[in-house]
Amino acid sequence: MAIRRESETVNNPKLISLMNIDFSQRVEALAPSVTLAIDAKAKEMKAAGIDVVGFGTGQPDFDTPDFIKDAAKKALDEGFTKYTAAAGIPELRQAIADKFKRENGLDYKASQIVASCGGKHSIYNVMMVLCEEGDEVIVPAPYWLSYPEIVKLAGATPVILETGDETDFKITPDQLREAITSKTRLFILNSPSNPTGAVYTPDEIKTLGDICVEKEVLILSDEIYEHLLYDGAVHKSVASFSQAHQDQTIIVHGLAKAWSMTGWRLGFIAAPEAIAKKIAAIQSHSTSNPTSFAQKGGVAALVEPMTHLAGWLEAFTERRAYACDKLSSIPGMSCYRSLGAFYLFPNISKFGLSSSEFCSRLLEEESVAAVPGLAFGADEYIRISYATSMEQIVKGLDRIEQFCCRQV
Ligand code: PLP
Repeated sequence: MAIRRESETVNNPKLISLMNIDFSQRVEALAPSVTLAIDAKAKEMKAAGIDVVGFGTGQPDFDTPDFIKDAAKKALDEGFTKYTAAAGIPELRQAIADKFKRENGLDYKASQIVASCGGKHSIYNVMMVLCEEGDEVIVPAPYWLSYPEIVKLAGATPVILETGDETDFKITPDQLREAITSKTRLFILNSPSNPTGAVYTPDEIKTLGDICVEKEVLILSDEIYEHLLYDGAVHKSVASFSQAHQDQTIIVHGLAKAWSMTGWRLGFIAAPEAIAKKIAAIQSHSTSNPTSFAQKGGVAALVEPMTHLAGWLEAFTERRAYACDKLSSIPGMSCYRSLGAFYLFPNISKFGLSSSEFCSRLLEEESVAAVPGLAFGADEYIRISYATSMEQIVKGLDRIEQFCCRQV
């Protein structure tokens, strides 16, 4: 019998803690998720019986619509529980291609679509396929916190373009032009944005897209909040301006936000076929297919009309208006009126605290969980998610007001 010493070690927690493990450079450079840390602390406090108000969440507080659940249940009952094609079932890839035609006026063949285990997984795949050491990826800040970490995991270097509320958190064409070098591989465009809720106008998107086409820089366009828009804001995909724009763009999307399917883990990309093929290849050696019966739910989500959305948008609109007005009325605080997603990103710089200090004291003193802007590359702000009930919003913002009044 072979001696299996390694499993003795691995199964013994005492030995593990004594081991001096050399981790890969890849993972050494990785910053742990601040949102998850805040969430863990808030959950701990809740479990201890404390009345915590959570503004940290990045998911709708609504349930997945029944017609989607029913489709997945039916798939389970019919035994649709085996491996599928790595890039997703043909039915789902076609439903995704049809969605892009119907909603965005974009022609994609099913072979240009890859379904993955969430939008995050799709972004990871894109980065693994396109980027390596020596490459630069342009990331406007405030950014969704996983972008720079995924860029680093691919061995590439994030190049951060700073913006603030004075420019509605949007980069200028000059900023993009100046940042592009011979090493630039990818430009990440996220509109509507997490964490700011900023939405670029179609003209602004076109200008940024034109620059990328001219300079031959690929665009990763993260459109996961496409359906969550307010005050007449419109979404226009950068891929939709011309064939050249489409050829230069990888659209990332997913079902997490507008269908409230965060736990289903279903996202997708649409890209030039050569890129889609490589992504499918990477996926075939990592996760394989997204969960079989979740894909059937995904087909229902994309094929059926989004009748659930109007009610959700009505609730988000009301909460956003209340929260934005309330935050703006707090002495010392100002709040950009976001146009998309379900986040507000108020400026806390007048209180003389870093965003981490602000949020950890807010949690300790007022039992309110918000996310420090530092996690998104913007230390003068905090992120408030209004994907929670109006009652919680009123209570939580009253507490934030009390906290702020003590600081001035
Ligand atoms: N992109 C943005 C901007 C996000 O905010 C998120 C989730 O918070 C994702 C992508 C990934 O979503 P998921 O992996 O849950 O589909």
